[in-house]
Amino acid sequence: MLNLTSRRAFAVAGAVLALSVSAQPDYAGSESIFAPIPWASHDEVRLASGAPGSAYWQQRADYTINVTLDEENTSLSGSLHCTYTNNSKDPLRYIWLNLEQNAFKPESIGTRAMLPNVWWRVPPDFEGGFDLGQAQVDGQDVDVLVYDAVGKINLPEPLGPGESLDLSMEFSMVIPPRGRLGMYEGEDGTVFELAHWFPNVAVYDDVHGWNILPHQGDGEFYTNFGDYDVSITVPADHIVAGAGELQNPDEVLTDQQLELLEKARHSTETISIRSVDEIGEDRPEGTKTWKFRAENVRTFAFATSRAFAWDAAIAGEDRPVLCQAFYPREAMPLWSDEAVQFARHTINFYSEWIHEYPWSTATNVNGIVGGMEYPTIVFCSEQRNRRGLFGVTDHEFGHEWFPMMVNSDERRHAWMDEGFNTFINHYSGEAFFGRGNARSRGGAMGIARQMNADPRPQPIMTFPDRIRNNELGFLAYGKPGYGMQLLRDYILGPERFDEAFREYVRRWAFKSPTPEDFFRTMEDAAGYDLAWFWRGWFYENGVLDQAIGRVHAEPRRGVVNVVVSNNERLVMPVVMAIEYDDGTEERRELPVEAWARADEFPVSWDSGGRTIVRIEIDPDHVLPDIDRDNNVYENEDFEVDDEWDDGDSEQEDLDERDPRNVPSTRSKTKSSSN
Ligand SMILES: [Zn+2]
Repeated sequence: MLNLTSRRAFAVAGAVLALSVSAQPDYAGSESIFAPIPWASHDEVRLASGAPGSAYWQQRADYTINVTLDEENTSLSGSLHCTYTNNSKDPLRYIWLNLEQNAFKPESIGTRAMLPNVWWRVPPDFEGGFDLGQAQVDGQDVDVLVYDAVGKINLPEPLGPGESLDLSMEFSMVIPPRGRLGMYEGEDGTVFELAHWFPNVAVYDDVHGWNILPHQGDGEFYTNFGDYDVSITVPADHIVAGAGELQNPDEVLTDQQLELLEKARHSTETISIRSVDEIGEDRPEGTKTWKFRAENVRTFAFATSRAFAWDAAIAGEDRPVLCQAFYPREAMPLWSDEAVQFARHTINFYSEWIHEYPWSTATNVNGIVGGMEYPTIVFCSEQRNRRGLFGVTDHEFGHEWFPMMVNSDERRHAWMDEGFNTFINHYSGEAFFGRGNARSRGGAMGIARQMNADPRPQPIMTFPDRIRNNELGFLAYGKPGYGMQLLRDYILGPERFDEAFREYVRRWAFKSPTPEDFFRTMEDAAGYDLAWFWRGWFYENGVLDQAIGRVHAEPRRGVVNVVVSNNERLVMPVVMAIEYDDGTEERRELPVEAWARADEFPVSWDSGGRTIVRIEIDPDHVLPDIDRDNNVYENEDFEVDDEWDDGDSEQEDLDERDPRNVPSTRSKTKSSSN
């Protein structure tokens, strides 16, 4: 999802419910932030290294669905067949379904328990939800016991290990006007964006058994991988953008469109398959059925409209990825100029950095949905702002890696997809617009302010539907995203981090990691104990305040002794920039491990006869330090002599207080960016 609430969230005055910091769990009986975190014991399914083990298993759900759009009544109706395969060692006497549309009923938990200002809320009088027909399991009628947005089916026979069942069911739903799906009313017709539009089997896993947290709105999705064969019947003048590959282009496209689509499959330049000028030109009567197949995906979304223009080009090197844009006239000229090329950049950038994009299509649709991701297809509403469209495109396609490929549980751990995605978006934006021009740049002060807000935000590990004070934007996106940047560029360094992060994706692509699997993998593959970082940044909500205490210097003897202190719960390595009277500067570091031994730590060195003029902690301002006033030491006894002032014009051009102006001849031991 694109975070639409963050700015407002930060502005909300939250004097309501302060989180008790003392309620933090006391890990391993130690109050030290460095203490080992008491993670679940490992086994053959999930290894201590953080990798999936030899006994790893996950369920599978393959779907064949026929669905018809009733444009007049803005509803969908269809029938589904699901082959559900039990790969666990456990016999299952019942299965649970996700019925996400039921969150849009007036009496749902989501409707009643959500605060009124959530962005996805439908009008109060909207009567949403699924209408379910008779369900059958292996041909026998079964009841679906519906409880809010989940449903239970007691099986006629237990489903044994290794066995499959065939679930079939008819269903219908009225399309909600907006949310993570919805309808855009354009000049040339309605754009329908459809997602979580069919009942689906919930996840049964080794961590929670059946995952039965109902969809309430903020918590997104956690679903099984499977193959989808979906037939979509729409008015004959509609164009359908579906997940995966179109299976029957000959039946639904004109000869000219077929030709242009084939051309696009060999072009890195954007090819217009249906231009805006053609909209409304050809209006055949009746209906057409568009058939799509999407393999190894965790759900199926699509969009349909008679108002679509359609562009495409390929990304990818070894395997071509058809990048497509579907948009109404109102999105011109931004979408026709750039949408496909933005998609190409994103697919290429993350493929090269993180893991190859595994599917053959990547489709972007312009409609009412602000920004939302589904496997191989995303929805983005931006029509005017170039930077805005790049940002939302990059973000939503970034989700193809997290969680579409690395299938984390979004309903519990939004940070594992939103935070990781916010993190990778930073570098993608820099690659596209040039270093220093990514929008997320320079966020340390903002992060510090939000971390130190009153009341203090909950820990990142809080489930999205349980986050107070509208802080989802900070806890799922901003804080974890910035934390990953710190971990890469400040704590581990890009090389060490990237190897470990790629290992995480390699291990868990098309599988479902827990937070612990991520934490353990990063430690295992980077070769570094990060308990202090996971606890401080993810499990707890403490803040950082590094400070310079006493400074003792005897230049003639060459002795410098600086006491650095850590005044709050959170710990980080220390970087100090020291300026001397002869114009030289150096940087010194204190490893984070020092804070395991003391909250005040002496740092000593030989100044080589030089007098210290100034010391600054965190000179590049990358740490979310809540009090920067105590980061600087100025030597008040030191007076600039005349010779220095007059003699060195190069120095006069520099703002000595701005660490970014440190000349390259001065020693610089650590950089905040790469
Ligand atoms: Zn997102």
